[in-house]
Amino acid sequence: MKVFKFGGASVKDAASVRNVGSIMQAQLVNGHYILVVVSAMGKTTNALEKVIEKAYQQQDFRPELNNLKAYHVNIAKDLFSTEHPVHASLQELFRQLEEYLAIIDPTTLFDFQYDQVVSYGELLASIILQHYLQDLALPTTWLDCRSIIRTDNLWREGRVDWGATQTKIQEVVKPLLQNAHVITQGFLGGTAEGLTTTLGREGSDYSAAIFAHSLAAESVTIWKDVAGLLNADPKLFPNTVLYEEISYQETVEMAYYGASVIHPKTIKPLATSHIPLLVKSFLNPEAPGTIIHDCRHEKIAPAYILKQNQCLISFQEKDYAFINENNLSHIFAALANFRFKINLMQNSAISFSICTDYDETRLQLFRQSLQEQFHIHYNTGLTLFTIKNYDEASVNFLTQNKTMLLEQRSRTTFQFVSKAEPVLTSS
Ligand code: ASP
Ligand code: MG
Repeated sequence: MKVFKFGGASVKDAASVRNVGSIMQAQLVNGHYILVVVSAMGKTTNALEKVIEKAYQQQDFRPELNNLKAYHVNIAKDLFSTEHPVHASLQELFRQLEEYLAIIDPTTLFDFQYDQVVSYGELLASIILQHYLQDLALPTTWLDCRSIIRTDNLWREGRVDWGATQTKIQEVVKPLLQNAHVITQGFLGGTAEGLTTTLGREGSDYSAAIFAHSLAAESVTIWKDVAGLLNADPKLFPNTVLYEEISYQETVEMAYYGASVIHPKTIKPLATSHIPLLVKSFLNPEAPGTIIHDCRHEKIAPAYILKQNQCLISFQEKDYAFINENNLSHIFAALANFRFKINLMQNSAISFSICTDYDETRLQLFRQSLQEQFHIHYNTGLTLFTIKNYDEASVNFLTQNKTMLLEQRSRTTFQFVSKAEPVLTSS
């Protein structure tokens, strides 16, 4: 049994949905159907985020909502005949959504409302895709994953209850897969009370891993608009290299340093049950892409990873005292309190510096909480560059013409913070 995940770009318009149809038609099933996880179409999740923000602030959300409706309705018109039942399903979902948005109360929790609204993107996409595959005479079942993927109520970042989820997958999903492909949503979950949750932005990869782990699937394939796992973002770097195979460990670390390749939570459930993860291009489905699995690397191409919108904060004791464990513990407590994640840190005799994601409001509150004890300086508009498995050539290439505000290297990883100059022109 295999799991496929189709991301937003793979279903962004009618032609893309047709392409997914031909990928599915090309699969040799032999009695083993595929569990298909689909994301919201194109940029739908971003658009729904705007809609919920407006509704929550009691502003007119209808222009944005109508655009989104027209977008889905037009895709459906292109794919299906006018009498097709899919149209009524879409109309009904938009009616429900509009009704819900119209009575949103700004005294309720925003994050809760976010999940209730933003989840519509995946519901819409999965309904369109299931009908389309059904019409190609592929046996398919639509599954509402909110009754299967059980989470707690940490809205927007639901934490999976593995016990309850695995039981549901065994009881409900496994039998369905005996007779048909199961088409379900990525990114969504549900609480024990039946309320909708989401798993964090870009969480559909993680959904695929949850299903695969619980079904002991033979593999997971993530279908993307790139050839596979590359050593750098091709939008930023001119000459990228494709990893034909790479270990789970390397992949997790790349995600940690900020590579937007695969949702970071995806790897663990697959690695623990040794399920290979294939990253393939939906534009070139025959090409092998990348296999992520248990393997060792003698030599691996350096990976270039950027984290943008960084801020470098440095602390100095007001009385020129040395930085010691005591004052470090105050700094760490405040960082945790304001939920700053340290992306890089360094200390010297009288100062301590960290690089973190920039958020002006939280930064000011954080500074206020420590300003009695420390002089605090900060720089914004920075990029954290990481080269994983660096060599001298890659360091020279990446550091050329850049002023480094902070630099660090370990045996495998070279990192530095610099003014934002992300786009490179040659390598
Ligand atoms: N649609 C969601 C997002 O854009 C989940 C996903 O694409 O994985 O974040
Ligand atoms: Mg998406």
